[in-house]
Amino acid sequence: MSYTKQVMEQVIKRNSGEPEFHQAVLEVLDSLEPVFEKNPQYVNAGILERIVEPERQIIFRVPWVDDQGKVQVNRGFRVQFNSAIGPYKGGLRFHPSVNVGIIKFLGFEQIFKNSLTGLPIGGGKGGSDFDPKGKSDGEIMRFCQSFMTELSKHIGADTDVPAGDIGVGGREIGYLFGQYKKLRNMFEAGVITGKGLTYGGSLVRTQATGYGLVYFMEEAIKAKGKSFDGATVVISGSGNVAIYAAEKAQQLGSTVVALSDSSGYIYDKNGINLDTVKQIKEVERKRISEYVKIHPSAEFFNSCDGIWSIPCDIALPSATQNELDGEAAKKLVANGCYAVGEGANMPATPDAHKVFLENNVIFAPGKAANAGGVATSALEMSQNSMRLSWTFDEVDARLKDIMINIYHNASAAAKEYGFEGNLIVGSNIAGFIKVADTMLAHGI
Ligand code: GLU
Repeated sequence: MSYTKQVMEQVIKRNSGEPEFHQAVLEVLDSLEPVFEKNPQYVNAGILERIVEPERQIIFRVPWVDDQGKVQVNRGFRVQFNSAIGPYKGGLRFHPSVNVGIIKFLGFEQIFKNSLTGLPIGGGKGGSDFDPKGKSDGEIMRFCQSFMTELSKHIGADTDVPAGDIGVGGREIGYLFGQYKKLRNMFEAGVITGKGLTYGGSLVRTQATGYGLVYFMEEAIKAKGKSFDGATVVISGSGNVAIYAAEKAQQLGSTVVALSDSSGYIYDKNGINLDTVKQIKEVERKRISEYVKIHPSAEFFNSCDGIWSIPCDIALPSATQNELDGEAAKKLVANGCYAVGEGANMPATPDAHKVFLENNVIFAPGKAANAGGVATSALEMSQNSMRLSWTFDEVDARLKDIMINIYHNASAAAKEYGFEGNLIVGSNIAGFIKVADTMLAHGI
């Protein structure tokens, strides 16, 4: 049995009942076979056995009182996966599907994503099975305060720096930071990112994941003589990633024809009106189906399955993990889609990867293509350390540079190891080598 297969067996045995974590590890390990053949020093130092095991995992009780005066209890998580190249860094996800396996898959991916940014950030992730849907503002605040009361014991600007993810946006970050500040009696701006602009947040952070995704894809398709100008684009999701990916794609001359949420998707062949979507999603916090009331020429479908059967040139899955399977991938290919970029973390299944690779579709994995969010978080940390703020254009230019570099580094790594054009392999290798070399340098 090969070395990576042996490690994989151990991961499955030690982390039973965590299929998403197994999936994320398997994808990386498959890519790394040629790296271990060339670099026996990694095998001797047990880098792989170490990198699949989080440095620390914290699981805690989050009690809070709802609007009826009833005590509710949720479970909180923070997985501090790898601190070789910088403080643990990664978002917090509040969603009923959250469990330790989900947080571990996200934390594991974050190690390589953060390494790819070229910035000094390690990998971590956290969250809770709390469901923010339908909760009042007061309930959200009390939950965030209770969550931070425990989390504050484990984080710090040079230790572990959380941010947002699904279910955690500007409002939640505000409550979390406010509670941290009270507990510590200290204004430690760099302890959390995605902050509001009045208290240490960075311009472009809100747009960064979506804009970065499009900057990455623009570079990737340029290599094949294509561009966003005139392209038809399908995007799943309608959170922060999807909305700002759509905004940048439109600015570059594309027509974005679909967006979705967990209740279904909207199709507007004339191109989605983003002001309407922002009003519905960011201001009113309502369902995407509201869109067709304002734009009756658009259609709403009350299931997410069909979104990938809409003909498009470029698809940007930006909702959640495993939302695009092998069958959906076949439909995209049959309809002429030539590029897919993951705005969410691991939205395409391994079967979908196979379909894209076999059909020469440009496929950009999330750990490369959606790294713009965390990269801009690292730029927020830099500004906090310097106690100054850069302009929108300055942050945006840095973000664009970072995304273009990630594309070229992933592409070059794929070529060097004999997998030209395979950005999955290239991203995994490029992300891994920097962390592995640092772990070698640090000893065990
Ligand atoms: N949740 C985002 C991600 O998946 C951003 C994390 C951050 O900014 O720390 O990368």
